[in-house]
Amino acid sequence: DGGKRPDYLAGLNPEQTEAVETLEGPVLVLAGAGTGKTRVLTTRIAHILNTGRAFPSQILAVTFTNKAAREMKERIALLVGGAVEGMPWLGTFHSIGVKLLRRHAELVGLSSDFTILDTDDVVRLIKQLIQAEGLDDKRWPAKQFAGMIDTWKNKGLGPADIPEGDARAFANGRGRDLYFAYQARLSTLNACDFGDLLMHPIAIFRKNPDLLKEYHGRFRYTLVDEYQDTNTAQYMWLRLLAQRSKGEPQNVCCVGDDDQSIYGWRGAEVDNILRFEKDFPGAKVIKLERNYRSTEHILGAAAHLIAHNEGRLGKTLFTDRADPDDVKVQVHASWDSEEEARAIGEEIEQLQRGKHLLNDMAILVRASFQMREFEDRFVTLGLNYRVIGGPRFYERLEIRDAMAYFRLVAQPADDLAFERIINTPKRGLGDTTVRALHDYARARDIPMLAAAADMIETDELKPKARKALFDVIQSFRRWQELLENTPHTELAEQILEESGYTDMWKNDKSAEAPGRLENLKELIRSMESFESMRGFLEHVSLVMDAETNENLDAVSIMTLHSAKGLEFDTVFLPGWEEGLFPHQRSLDESGRAGLEEERRLAYVGITRAKRRCHIWFVSNRRIHGLWQSTLPSRFLDELPETHVEVAEMEQSYGGYGRGGYGQSRFDKAEPFANSYSTPGWKRAQANRTDATRDNWGTRSGHAVERIGYGESGPKGRTIEGE
Ligand code: ATP
Ligand code: MG
Repeated sequence: DGGKRPDYLAGLNPEQTEAVETLEGPVLVLAGAGTGKTRVLTTRIAHILNTGRAFPSQILAVTFTNKAAREMKERIALLVGGAVEGMPWLGTFHSIGVKLLRRHAELVGLSSDFTILDTDDVVRLIKQLIQAEGLDDKRWPAKQFAGMIDTWKNKGLGPADIPEGDARAFANGRGRDLYFAYQARLSTLNACDFGDLLMHPIAIFRKNPDLLKEYHGRFRYTLVDEYQDTNTAQYMWLRLLAQRSKGEPQNVCCVGDDDQSIYGWRGAEVDNILRFEKDFPGAKVIKLERNYRSTEHILGAAAHLIAHNEGRLGKTLFTDRADPDDVKVQVHASWDSEEEARAIGEEIEQLQRGKHLLNDMAILVRASFQMREFEDRFVTLGLNYRVIGGPRFYERLEIRDAMAYFRLVAQPADDLAFERIINTPKRGLGDTTVRALHDYARARDIPMLAAAADMIETDELKPKARKALFDVIQSFRRWQELLENTPHTELAEQILEESGYTDMWKNDKSAEAPGRLENLKELIRSMESFESMRGFLEHVSLVMDAETNENLDAVSIMTLHSAKGLEFDTVFLPGWEEGLFPHQRSLDESGRAGLEEERRLAYVGITRAKRRCHIWFVSNRRIHGLWQSTLPSRFLDELPETHVEVAEMEQSYGGYGRGGYGQSRFDKAEPFANSYSTPGWKRAQANRTDATRDNWGTRSGHAVERIGYGESGPKGRTIEGE
């Protein structure tokens, strides 16, 4: 057309250009990591705006996280050269769902100021319903039913739609009635849960075709990022909004990668990719094969690994980013996780000395309990870090609770700690009792724990509360006596057991509970390197004080799940051991499908790296003061020799030689059952004779116990056998 092509189109490759310029009709971009899918979406929006095809308010664009939505807005503004006036319909499924629901709440019997309940509220409400039905809420836990409702809603199933068998599975066939009762109760409360943010708009559009038509008129263009992780309800919602009657243009563009589908456990359906072509006939399917993010080695390693999955659509990837200076993916071994954190810290400092920014580095963990070791280490080193997508380790709910117990034992005047745990777990010491204690304490200017000890001698409290308080005070007296002479880790465990705190999470049926228990174990483990409880408490207050300024140059620490869509120059992937990665739970629960999802997670992890990727495994994880040998992850064996090298141990331990650690134990000739077994590779071996252990002076005080594979340790987790 003779006009000058806008700058933002100039750098795109032909396939990307096609995806950006095919504005009429359905488009599906199916492509591997780092091929520019997100960039295509962003550029496409810029192009729509720039060519005047639509106003910002006429574009519906869905991202996976709020952070991604913010970034996309910023990039679009850069591309169109100036402020984009809002993009009211750019956000996550949930944020867009809320907006729709606020506008049309009355159509589902709510008023527009409805409240959104969090998980705790939902569980409390369901518990009331279960009790109101005359059911035993111990036998039929509210948490479990909350999980079932969530699963149904992810599948787009209301109370009338749930399959017979499913309905029968809970409360002797009363599951469906309970679900109905739950929705009715929400309606009375003018409230909804997270699932309703999609379910209600779906119902509204189905029942009000005219309204839907209005939205069809409004949303000229629809775009979806991370399409592989949409669940059924999201897909139904999307189809309602994007699918048009015959003859009307269906301007919908979804981008995704089946190899990065990592939310199956939350109801995501990879099959939505296959449904797209059926529901949007004539869809143009565009493949992007050139990766702009990573070096050849990183890409080669990731591609080879993911090829071990059976359930995939399959694709090729190549990169031009080959440079003779490119380093292979490095696999490192450490003795245990403490050394892993040390070694990674060392590696980071070395990069920093080479003028690399901390902002360009990330540590991606499989399970959030792994973060603790790095946070502690970085505080010691004075390295800035930020935790993304969740609280820092010591800020987590269960850690704060446990710490409040420890603080109150060591510092009986700590009223904040007292108030935090006096009724956690529930002991029937509710607000009234706490207020009475508070008043009593204030009037006499004494700590609340002392006030409680006084008050149980009076008759100012109801007998039940008095008895409960008496028991708690006795426990605290006992723990305080133990403080001086019992090893502090032992005491800590005892406190969490005897207070009922650990049991509280063991009885908890929610999806987060196992992770919280893991964190509590990690907390106990973290105390081992301190002399006393007081020393430990002091350390934690220092960690909590560490700065988390947004603008600071800092290493990012996050889970693999939250790393989706992001990229960093250097990526560290610690904890590649059987049982941790692949995670034991995923293997137990869903067999092969679970394993394949774990492998996709590994693929996501490696492909976050632009230039350097370091993978780590340890030979021992210490759980409850006991050593457990671990097997290197099977994923390590699935990496190609051409793109990966086992880092020299001397190198990774170089910094510690002077610490008296001597030569690497991995050089010992004696074979070890856990040897890193990739054929043809230099074997990384650990020798576990006592003599070797003695080289590790500091460890000799601890019991070392080898726990057989396939069994579970006395208190520890199960370690997967081959
Ligand atoms: P993921 O699957 O991990 O979400 P993606 O396919 O969305 O990856 P992007 O994040 O869009 O990939 O792009 C990866 C990197 O490549 C980004 O830094 C992006 O700016 C860059 N990139 C994409 N296309 C081009 C291009 N044509 N020229 C130069 N750089 C590009
Ligand atoms: Mg992306």
